[in-house]
Amino acid sequence: MSERPYIVGNWKMHGTRAMLAEARAIDRAAERLIKVEVALAPPFTLIHACRKEATLIGIGAQDVHPADGGAHTGDVSAAMAKDAGAGFAIVGHSERRADHKESNALVKQKAEAAIEAGMNVIVCVGETEDQRDEGKAEDVVARQLAGSVPTGEELAEKITVAYEPVWAIGTGRTPTVDDIGTMHRHIRGKLVDMFGEAGEAMRILYGGSVKPDNAAELLAADEVGGALVGGASLTAESFLGIIVAA
Ligand code: PGA
Repeated sequence: MSERPYIVGNWKMHGTRAMLAEARAIDRAAERLIKVEVALAPPFTLIHACRKEATLIGIGAQDVHPADGGAHTGDVSAAMAKDAGAGFAIVGHSERRADHKESNALVKQKAEAAIEAGMNVIVCVGETEDQRDEGKAEDVVARQLAGSVPTGEELAEKITVAYEPVWAIGTGRTPTVDDIGTMHRHIRGKLVDMFGEAGEAMRILYGGSVKPDNAAELLAADEVGGALVGGASLTAESFLGIIVAA
């Protein structure tokens, strides 16, 4: 696994141009970026401007459509996101899986489209609270990995997996460090099954209520290579708090 933690901010449906100052401030904390790989996924409308404002950190898209182009009103293709300045795409976030009924198969097509367009991808997986209570968390995540992660050893370096338990997103609740470690070891095993030796080096991020005051503890869990951060990435102050903790 890469030694350098990867901390990715997901702005979700937040941000107008007024928020570019936050991206700039994060980028200016350049001396910290030597030890930590930092990236932001703003809404599509800010990708181009963020890319121009922030020259050191990664900039990515929160989603892409699987098709190259065509009659898909309101959608954005991977090539368009790339052209706007996105170097990676998040796919399969639980909010998209829930709000837009995205299946594992669709998430995989999106990941393939992003890679085809020359981007890296962060594929999100994670169980709901009911699934955890029923003892099905590991099975659910295994199915999501098998169904939504593109395979092929040569793709391993382009793919990051984010484990985000749905019940921990935006709730202030997190799994225990032990539970995170258990799930991340499970994910590592599946990635090695899918990618062979290359699966050992793939990054696995934890996401769900990561804040400056719990980041150090959560990031120290077994097999955690970084964090996918929602709410706490919206201001430079709190996001930098997480970056420093990493
Ligand atoms: P949160 O969101 O940090 O606000 O819990 C995480 C995510 O959805 O990626």
